[in-house]
Amino acid sequence: MIEGMCKHCGQMRFVEARDTEEANAKVSLSCSCDEGAQDRKLKKMNENLDKLCGSHAEEYQMKPVEEDVYELLKGLCILVNEEAIAKVAISVDYTTITIYKKNENVILNRKKMSNYQLES
Ligand SMILES: [Zn+2]
Repeated sequence: MIEGMCKHCGQMRFVEARDTEEANAKVSLSCSCDEGAQDRKLKKMNENLDKLCGSHAEEYQMKPVEEDVYELLKGLCILVNEEAIAKVAISVDYTTITIYKKNENVILNRKKMSNYQLES
């Protein structure tokens, strides 16, 4: 166990870590202060983005988006979280990605635009 310090509020706590840097990061991320909660939210937001649009997209039957688009989405998530944007929807690779806020949570939704119409 190593003692780490929250980078936001300076609170010290012992955590399982290899070095001080890792301990500080762990304590900051799990701290009970407001900024710690914000850190957790950002982390979760990035994880969700990675799931639906990044390296885990295929597990959700989606294709990862291009890196530039990924960076843009990351920025949009932050702006939605800050309530600078209420809701945003973009169309990428026959899918629609919608980001909005609901009950303090940032909702990331990706929908396939598969619509088949056959005529004879
Ligand atoms: Zn803190």
